Amino acid sequence: MIRFNKPFLIENEFKYIEDAINNQGILRGDGLYTKKCHALLEQKLNAKKALLTHSCTAALEMAAILLNLNPGDEVIMPSYTFVSTANAFVLRGAVPVFVDIRPDTLNIDENLIEQAITPKTKAICCVHYAGIPCEMDKITDIAKRYNLKVIEDAAQALGSFYKGKPLGTIGDMGCFSFHETKNVISGEGGAIIINSDEFVERAEIIREKGTNRSKFFRGQVDKYTWVDIGSSYLPSDLIAAFLFSQLENMDKINNKRIDIWNKYNEFFKKYDEKIRRPIVPQDCKHNAHMYYVLFKDLETRTEFIDFMKEHDIWTVFHYIPLHSSPAGKKYCKAIGSMEVTNRISDTLVRLPLFYELNDKNLNFIFEKIDDFMKTL
Ligand SMILES: *Cc1c(COP(=O)(O)O)cnc(C)c1O
Repeated sequence: MIRFNKPFLIENEFKYIEDAINNQGILRGDGLYTKKCHALLEQKLNAKKALLTHSCTAALEMAAILLNLNPGDEVIMPSYTFVSTANAFVLRGAVPVFVDIRPDTLNIDENLIEQAITPKTKAICCVHYAGIPCEMDKITDIAKRYNLKVIEDAAQALGSFYKGKPLGTIGDMGCFSFHETKNVISGEGGAIIINSDEFVERAEIIREKGTNRSKFFRGQVDKYTWVDIGSSYLPSDLIAAFLFSQLENMDKINNKRIDIWNKYNEFFKKYDEKIRRPIVPQDCKHNAHMYYVLFKDLETRTEFIDFMKEHDIWTVFHYIPLHSSPAGKKYCKAIGSMEVTNRISDTLVRLPLFYELNDKNLNFIFEKIDDFMKTL
C-alpha cells in the first residue's frame, strides 16, 4: 500500500530528545532546543523574530490577538483554505471575508481584494497554497494604501521564496506548521514569525499566558506578572528537540521533495490535454509541499481516487470551501463569485508525496495512472 503521507525521522531526533531529558533537564517550553529552533529559523529565514507554537493554528491565533481586533472587524482571505485560517479570527469576534482565488496558482486573487475592503477591514490573511507564493507585491501595496496588516498563512510554505524573499517574512507576521503532513515535521507544531517591530514584545507576552516571563528569564525585570491577555502557546522542549533535527535538514528535505515533484510533473506532461498540472509563477521558488492535478470534473476525479484506492494508492482531495461550510455560513461572508474556488474544490486531487517515497513507489503510481488514463 502506498500511503498519501508518511511521517519520517531525518537524523538526530532521538539523540536530541535524549539530550533534552538527560543533560539539559528541561522538558517545559523555551529550553535549549526551543532556543536553537528560534535561532535557526531566524537565520534560515533572515527573520527578526521566530517563536515556536503548538501548531500553525496557535500561531494564527496569536496573530489574531496581536492585531487587536474588535468584534465585527473584517479580515480578507481565500475560502479555499484550511479552517484555521478563518477560525483564528472568528475566535476574536472578527469576520473572515472571502474573495475568490486565481485559477493558475489557486492563491487569493489579489485583483479582488480592493473591492472587498470596507471601513471595518483590518487585515489581509493570504495563504501560500501548496507552498507557491501569493502575489505579495500587489498585496502589500494594497495593505499600505488602506493601512491594513498582512498575515501570511505560510503553513505549507517553509523554504519557498517570492522574488528572493522567504515566505512568512514578507507580511507583518507569518505562520508556519510542522504538522506531520508538512515538509518539516514534529507531529504537531508551528511557529509565528514577527516581521514588524510593533508586535515583537507583545508576541512574547501573549505566548507566555499574558505574562512578562520571557523578560524575567532574560533578567530584564526582577519579577514577572500578568500584564496582558494571552494563553499557553509554547511547545515542550521535547517537541523542539525533535523539530531541531528536522530544521537542520530542511534543505535536504525540500530538495528530496522537489525531486519527487519534478518527476510527477514530467510524468503528467503527456496528459496536458486531459489534466491540468500546477503552475509556478516566474520569480518564485517553491518547496514542493504538494503535487496536485486538476481533472475536468468531479465525476472524473471521484473515479480516479476510487481507481487508485483499488490499487492500494491513497490520493486525497480538499478543501470543502469555507464559504459553503456550516460554520463558514454562520461566521463569515463571501464577496463576489466563488466560481474558481468551487470548481477547484471539485476537481483537485493530491498525489502521495513524502520524504521516503522512492522510485519504485513512483513507478508503480505512474503505471496505475497510465492504466486509469486509458479509460478516459
Ligand atoms: C496545515 C495548515 C494549517 C494548520 O496547521 P496546524 O499546524 O495543523 O495547526 C493552517 N493553514 C493551512 C493553509 C494549512 O495547510
